[in-house]
Amino acid sequence: MVISGPSGVGKGTIVKELLKLRPNASLSISCTTRAPRQGEVEGESYFFLTKDAFEKAIAEGGFLEYSEHFDNYYGTPKAFVESKLESGDVILEIEVDGALNVKRVMPQAVLIMIAPPDRETLYARLKGRGTEGEDVIARRMDRADYELGKSPLYDYVIINDDLKTAVGEVEQILEKEN
Ligand code: ADP
Ligand code: 5GP
Repeated sequence: MVISGPSGVGKGTIVKELLKLRPNASLSISCTTRAPRQGEVEGESYFFLTKDAFEKAIAEGGFLEYSEHFDNYYGTPKAFVESKLESGDVILEIEVDGALNVKRVMPQAVLIMIAPPDRETLYARLKGRGTEGEDVIARRMDRADYELGKSPLYDYVIINDDLKTAVGEVEQILEKEN
C-alpha cells in the first residue's frame, strides 16, 4: 500500500496510528540523502545516505523506485520491501512520482492519496510542525498543488480532517483490498 500526499498533510501521523491497529503490517524505510531532522533515528525514520552511496545503490539496481525531490534523493530499497512482504502488508509513504513508478512495476500496489481539507489547513500543519523554515514551507506548498493534481491517478483519495476518521478509512481500504 502506497500512501502519498503533500508534506504536512498528516501521512506520518496516519501511518503511525495505522501500524498500532495492524501489527502484521510494516512500514518501508526509505533511503534519503537529506540531513536528519531533530529526533530522527537512522534505520527508523530513514536510512541516511551520502549522495555517493545513494548513486551507487541506484547503479546497482537497489531501489524499487527513487526520485529527486527538494534537492535530495529519496528511494525505496527493493530488498527491504521484498523481505517485509513475506510477513504481511507493507506500507510505503512516498511522494507521487515514486508512487506512480511503484504502480508500474508492482500493479498490485494500492495507491492512497491523503489530501488536506483545504490549503490553509495544510499551511497551518506545516507551520505547526515547526520542522521547516518559511522558505522551505513555501516550496512545499507549491509542490502540494502538483501532488494533489495527481489524485485522479490514485486508487483512493482520503481527506485528513478528523484524524480518527481518516485512519479508519485507510484501515477499511486495507481490509477490503486484502
Ligand atoms: P506528513 O507526514 O504528511 O508530512 P505529519 O504527519 O508530520 O505530516 O503531520 C503534520 C502536522 O499535522 C503534525 O504536527 C501533525 O501532528 C498534524 N496533524 C496530522 N493530522 C492531523 C489532523 N487530522 N488534524 C490536526 N492536525 C494533524
Ligand atoms: P521528508 O523530507 O518530509 O521526510 O519527505 C519529503 C517527501 O519525500 C515526502 O513527500 C515523502 O513522502 C517522500 N519520500 C519519502 N521516502 C521516499 C521514497 O522512498 N521515495 C520517494 N519517491 N519519495 C519518498
